Amino acid sequence: MATALPAMDVSPSPTPGLLQVVTDLLLLDYRRCQRRAYLNRFGDESEREPERDFLIKLRQESQRHIQTVLQTEYPQYRQPQAPREDYQAQTEETLALMAQGAEVIYGGRLSQAFGEVAATGEKILLLGAPPLLVKQTGHSRWGDWQYRPLSIHLGRRPKPEYKILAAFYAHLLSHNQGQTPAGADLILRQGNRFRVDLREWLPRFYDALSDYLTTLCEQREPEVFISRQRCHLCHWQSHCYGLAQSQKHLSLVPGVTPSRYESLQKAGIETIAQLAYGAPDPLADLLGPALARQLQRQALALVEKRPFRRQHTRSFPLPQAPVELYFDIEAEPERNLDYLLGVLVVEGESHRFYGFLAENPEQEGEIWQTFLALMAQYPTAPIFHFSEYEAETLKRLAKLYPSPGLDLRRLLGRCWDLHQIVTTQAICPVENYSLKSLANWLGFQWRDGAASGDQSVCWYDQWLTTQNYVYLERIVQYNEDDCRATWRLKQWLESFLSSEGA
Ligand code: SF4
Repeated sequence: MATALPAMDVSPSPTPGLLQVVTDLLLLDYRRCQRRAYLNRFGDESEREPERDFLIKLRQESQRHIQTVLQTEYPQYRQPQAPREDYQAQTEETLALMAQGAEVIYGGRLSQAFGEVAATGEKILLLGAPPLLVKQTGHSRWGDWQYRPLSIHLGRRPKPEYKILAAFYAHLLSHNQGQTPAGADLILRQGNRFRVDLREWLPRFYDALSDYLTTLCEQREPEVFISRQRCHLCHWQSHCYGLAQSQKHLSLVPGVTPSRYESLQKAGIETIAQLAYGAPDPLADLLGPALARQLQRQALALVEKRPFRRQHTRSFPLPQAPVELYFDIEAEPERNLDYLLGVLVVEGESHRFYGFLAENPEQEGEIWQTFLALMAQYPTAPIFHFSEYEAETLKRLAKLYPSPGLDLRRLLGRCWDLHQIVTTQAICPVENYSLKSLANWLGFQWRDGAASGDQSVCWYDQWLTTQNYVYLERIVQYNEDDCRATWRLKQWLESFLSSEGA
C-alpha cells in the first residue's frame, strides 16, 4: 500500500536564504484566490480558522481515489522512501528513479532553483509533487526515455487549475530531464482521462507564476472579494468577511461579480451606499439598464434593510392549504445517496416533523417508500422546499425504486420551490439568497450554529464509521431546522407577496 501524501505546503521557506518556496499547493491557492495565497504566506495565523471537517473529508476521498487508480492501473509503481519533510532527499531519490528508468513513479518530487529577486538577491525555489511520473519513449538526458506527468483529481471536469498544475509539473520535468514532455495527463473521477495541451497551458502557467511572484515580492495584499462559492470553505473566511463588512464592500451585494465590480469601480462606485444612491445613468451605460437597476435596488435593500418586490412582477399567490408539507433532503453526492428525507407537516397550530433516515446506504429505498406513504396520507397538500434538488431527487428515487401506484407527475405538481420564488419575486436585504441568510434575516436561528449541509455529510460519514448515534441526532436536528426555516420563509413570502402585489 502506498503512503498517503500529506498536503504539501512548505511555506515559509524551509531553507535559510530562500525568499519563497513556490509549491503546487500555493500556486493552486493563488489560482483560486490571490488573497488566500497571500494570507497563507503573510497572514496573521491567529486569524486563520481550523480546517473544516468537509475539507478533510474531501482530502481523504482524494487519497482513496489516488490509491484506487494506483492499485488498478499502476500497481508496479515505485516511490521515494525519504520522509516527506526532507524534500531535498526526495527530489534526489526521484531523479535517481528516473535515471534508472522506473516505469511509474508515485509521490516523487521535482524542484528547480528559479532565479532570484533582483532587489534583495534572495533565491526562489520551485517545488512540485506530481502524483505520478509515467515513463514513455522519447529522449532525455538519461537516454531513450522520458517522463510525462499524470495528475489524479476528484473533479468531474478538467478544471483550469488542474491544467495549470499539470503545466507546472511539465515545466519541472523539462528542467530536470532536459526535454519538455509531449503532454500531460489527468485522471478524473470515475477514471476518465484527459490530455492537457501544453502549448496552451505552459504559457498560462508562466503568467500565473509571474503574477504570483510579483504579489509575493511586493508583499501587496490583494483586495478582499467575497464570493460565496469560493469563500465558504476557506480558513480565512471570518477574517475576510469582517474586513468586507467594515469596508461595506461591493462584493457583499448579491449579483456583483468580479467583472461587474470592475465596471462599478470605473464608474467611481466603491461602497454599497454609493451603489444604492448613485446616479443611474452612468451605471446603465456601463452595465445595461436592467442590470444596473437590479444591482441598485439590491444595494438599496441592504442599506435600508428592507425588501422590495421585483419591478416586473405582479401579485403572486402562494398556495395555502389546511395541511402543508415542508420538505428538505440531506444527501451525500459522493455516494449518490439521499440519506435523510425530512418533512415538516403543518396543520393549523400543529407542527410534526418526520425524519426518514437511512442508517446505512442500503436503506435508501426503504426510506423512499416510507416517505411516499406519508405523501399519500396528504394527497393534496402542497410541498414546499428550498432548491431544485428536492424535485430532482423525487425523480431520481422514483426511477431507482419503482413504486406501484406512484403518480410522479402529480407529486411533482405539488412541489413549490421557494428559492426560485423568492429570487424571482423579491429583493431582500441579504448578502446571499441561501436559506440560512434569508431565514436568519427573518429572525430564525438554527439550534446548532455549527450545522450546515457540508457538515451534515461529515456527520453521516462519522456515523457510518463510529455508529455513534449523536451524529445522527445532529443530522436530524439540522434537517428539522431546515424544514422549519423553509416554513418561516413561506410565512413571510405569503404576506409579503400578497400585500405588495395588491
Ligand atoms: S475568504 Fe475568500 S477572499 Fe478571503 S482568502 Fe478565502 S477565498 Fe479569498
